[in-house]
Amino acid sequence: MTASQSASPAAELDKPKRAFRPLPVPQVDVRGFWGDRVDAVATRTAGILYDRCVEARMLEQIDPDRPSPGVVIPFHSPSPDEAATAGNEFTGSTVTTQMFWDSDWGKTIETAAYSLYRRRNDALEKKIDAVIDMYGRLQQPDGYLSSWYQRIQPGLRWTNLRDCHELYCAGHLIEGAVAYYQATGKRKLLDIMCRYADHIAETFGTEPGKKKGYCGHEEIELALVKLARVTGEQKYMDLAKYFIDQRGQQPHYFDEEARARGADPKAYHFKTYEYSQSHKPVREQDKVVGHAVRAMYLYSGMADIATEYGDDTLRAALDRLWDDLTTKNLYITGGLGPSSHNEGFTADYDLPNETAYAETCASVGLVFWASRMLGMGPHARYADMMERALYNGSISGLSLDGSLFFYENPLESRGKHNRWKWHRCPCCPPNIGRMVASIGSYFYGLSDDALAVHLYGNSTARFDIAGTQIELRQTSNYPWDGAVSITIEPEAPTTFTLHLRLPAWCRKAALKVNGEAVDLDAVTSDGYAAIRREWRKGDQVELELEMAVDRLYANPQVRQDIGRVALARGPLIYCVEETDNAGQLHRIALPRTAQIEAREQPNLLGGVVTLSAVARKEAFEDWDHGLYRTEPPAVEEAKITAVPYFAWDNRDPGEMLVWIRCAG
Ligand SMILES: [Zn+2]
Repeated sequence: MTASQSASPAAELDKPKRAFRPLPVPQVDVRGFWGDRVDAVATRTAGILYDRCVEARMLEQIDPDRPSPGVVIPFHSPSPDEAATAGNEFTGSTVTTQMFWDSDWGKTIETAAYSLYRRRNDALEKKIDAVIDMYGRLQQPDGYLSSWYQRIQPGLRWTNLRDCHELYCAGHLIEGAVAYYQATGKRKLLDIMCRYADHIAETFGTEPGKKKGYCGHEEIELALVKLARVTGEQKYMDLAKYFIDQRGQQPHYFDEEARARGADPKAYHFKTYEYSQSHKPVREQDKVVGHAVRAMYLYSGMADIATEYGDDTLRAALDRLWDDLTTKNLYITGGLGPSSHNEGFTADYDLPNETAYAETCASVGLVFWASRMLGMGPHARYADMMERALYNGSISGLSLDGSLFFYENPLESRGKHNRWKWHRCPCCPPNIGRMVASIGSYFYGLSDDALAVHLYGNSTARFDIAGTQIELRQTSNYPWDGAVSITIEPEAPTTFTLHLRLPAWCRKAALKVNGEAVDLDAVTSDGYAAIRREWRKGDQVELELEMAVDRLYANPQVRQDIGRVALARGPLIYCVEETDNAGQLHRIALPRTAQIEAREQPNLLGGVVTLSAVARKEAFEDWDHGLYRTEPPAVEEAKITAVPYFAWDNRDPGEMLVWIRCAG
């Protein structure tokens, strides 16, 4: 499939010098671990997403040639405030429609687009074209486009940005449009969304006569950055910056907007604007608060703007927020947002395992945020966490065969938490689908004279530096093995810096260039080794990352994890499952001195490395009938086997546990 990369040269944007931009998806072919995941999405998930959207009757909401579901179903249209309180749900006798369905179409289109790079699929492309045609017919003459406000609640557009996902939906459709244009060269949806973005720019801003609003659910910000990059239009970048700058300013827009529609601003379901990170201007924020996915999308947009405008005030806020998330509020799996109540954050060190909400979308959002922090230059602080979220808390949300999903990603289960086919709020399936299908773009960052390698794995990348075409091939069995061999093939000898990430989990690394050892201490800063030289055809880089088994412990202020240990190897966090260890996993205790053996299991779960050890288990067989007694239970030996967390619940349903009790 041929695809042009931009509608007009992105160089028209005012490009900051030090920006590292990701390589577009088609410039990186992944094989091995990620190749298998992308194949699952391209062959199964992408089609499933479309089919399930149709089964959920989403086409009826967007197709102007069919009767509006809001007309057909005998049910009153809720006011914006009622709808928000009811979970944004509009229920009729046979149809449930959601105000954010445009976003599910946007992400489904995006997943399909990236999948088309991997595997041509004319039937799917035709179906997506038909969806795009419907949006084309639905769009109003002034550019406005929202299936909810045109077909379910007409006449109420831009009356409740706080609750109703209007700009959020626009953002996801923009992301879908950019991806579909890049994948197919078809620009119909891109043109539709440019017209809509123009309308949004005419509606919102600080100029007299415009609304000083922004969306309760962030997303439009990062989407407009993508639109600016692909079209070369600075006005979309400036609009993204406006939404970032305006958030949380006083007088508060959501208060004024509520009063304008006759509602009491204090009668807000979620009580605090922390829920949407609009409690204060973004540059004054230093705590991750509220809805976790919204937070991740906001910080992603802020990172983009910090990169594009070289804005150190935003960068300072982002570093404070990053520190708060990663030192006090992040699960060891890269999951985040423990509470289902606000789908988000609670208090520092509150990380319950069994009830963890840890939405798949939130970990995907953390990958988005971390990858954008890397836009400001390579730093292992961000790349390590991106890798943690990628290999654990995000892809746990998709079954190995690409057909079943998790919304919540707990770290402990009594066996009742199982993957499902679909969800009434289906945000996670297309989010994990689009992230996996575009994984190649997270591997590298490219600046004017440097390439940063953020992720390792079997893959081939093509890029150019100062007009010279370069191919870079990684050969590796990562994440199962830490040996990485990189071959560089420039068209002509070219000087640039190659930044190689040295993951924090690796305590011993060795690097050779064309067989000669490199002193890593002398060339490493911020967790990346930098090699600057004139690269010639066939140059060879050998990186050896020792991949030991680690026991990880939580800060003792995390009450749920005290006295417990988690197992890790390389970037992977492990868990024990009932199917390998019999039931009642709470009875297992792992001695601090127990040897842990890593073993390749090519026929298990698509090929994984398992960890096994001799642990202890409290016995109950001699306990008679009583619940309590003065004699402690007898202890017996028990061999335990742990599997990578991402692969859990792909076999017989049963218990699962990440944090194992320590013994001895
Ligand atoms: Zn979700």
